[in-house]
Amino acid sequence: MARLAIDGGTPVRQTLLPYGRQTVDEGDIAAVVEVLRSDWLTTGPKVAEFEQALVAFVGTKEAVAVSNGTAALHAAMYAIGIGPGDEVIVPPMTFAATANCVVFQGGTPVFADVDPDTLLLDPVQVEAKITPRTKAIIAVDYTGQPCDYDALRTIADRHELTLVADACHALGGSYKGRPVGSLADLSVFSFHPVKHITTGEGGMITTDDPELAQRMRVFRNHGITSDHRQRAQQGSWFYEMVDLGYNYRLTDLQCALGMSQLRKLPGWVARRQEIARHYDAAFAEIPAVDPLGVRDDVSHAYHLYVTRLDLAQLRATRAEVFTALRAEGIGVNVHYIPVHLHPYYCNRFGYGKGDLPSAESAYERILTLPMYPKMSEKDVEDAILAIHKVAGAYSYVDQRTIFGFS
Ligand SMILES: *Cc1c(COP(=O)(O)O)cnc(C)c1O
Repeated sequence: MARLAIDGGTPVRQTLLPYGRQTVDEGDIAAVVEVLRSDWLTTGPKVAEFEQALVAFVGTKEAVAVSNGTAALHAAMYAIGIGPGDEVIVPPMTFAATANCVVFQGGTPVFADVDPDTLLLDPVQVEAKITPRTKAIIAVDYTGQPCDYDALRTIADRHELTLVADACHALGGSYKGRPVGSLADLSVFSFHPVKHITTGEGGMITTDDPELAQRMRVFRNHGITSDHRQRAQQGSWFYEMVDLGYNYRLTDLQCALGMSQLRKLPGWVARRQEIARHYDAAFAEIPAVDPLGVRDDVSHAYHLYVTRLDLAQLRATRAEVFTALRAEGIGVNVHYIPVHLHPYYCNRFGYGKGDLPSAESAYERILTLPMYPKMSEKDVEDAILAIHKVAGAYSYVDQRTIFGFS
């Protein structure tokens, strides 16, 4: 059997294949340079143009651009009036910002466990966590698979809750033929470089509610009701600050980049799905590697490709498999440490081990593999080869015959 790189063998790759990476072409660069030569660097015409481009893409009435996905979550919590005493139900299997945005507004995040097969927020667990103080649910389209929005909508309506989608993983996906971004009362996107399209840093909220959109436009600009460009157009110095807001503006430079990127999104999502099919087919042959479940009523946008290791078949922990794969040149990652286990949430809200068993047991076994549109066939094959090599070396069962190593 081929000696693992971690034991002194030859690595599958000499250079590390990252788990995610942006795609930026000459057209993107030209779009940014054009703005640099224009009159408006920050809030100019490109902000509304980018918002309208996203509106057209997801099919909502409104979109509000902000400085990053975390600001978008914060603006959503502000718009729906979350404050002290209010509870918002969130999943633990997400990036911390999903829960933090509730705390920013003085509210209490309440974690509800995930479905063990998809690791998406489980509607049954959500309903069990509802109290008279519950105001909203934030569903996370973890890895890019949309949650079961029909089930969540039924629960939200029954209890008069606002349904928010943290769709930072799922731009370009759909649920029962309906695009992500149109599935909840408010949907939140991030344009960080590892996400589907990038503006460096950036975020957006989509909604059909013009009042919520207006509240978020004021919130992103210090709580002021007009922006600099509107005042310039009106030839006026007058403005009013009506509430406490932040500087969460996205710049024209970034919006020009975002628009240029958005045009390429459908092709990029198709390429991600193609890579996923390639991985799925390969891992069907490896008993110790078990990709997450995907429902058949969704189009999965594959921000991430997450597998679970069957540790009963391996004489290694996830950490050892992780280190061995890194040594082979494969930039595996782990998404996520369950948010309720971070010291801040344990100390401030009293969460601890055992509170959310499905998320916690998944955390011991999950591994994120490289996934981004520019990955070549060779890159995908390297990742698969390295998994074969490491799983083969650590399997109790002699898998040499299956894998063809000798
Ligand atoms: C990336 C991400 C965020 C935060 O977005 P930023 O743009 O990095 O602030 C929030 N939630 C989820 C699920 C994310 O993946």
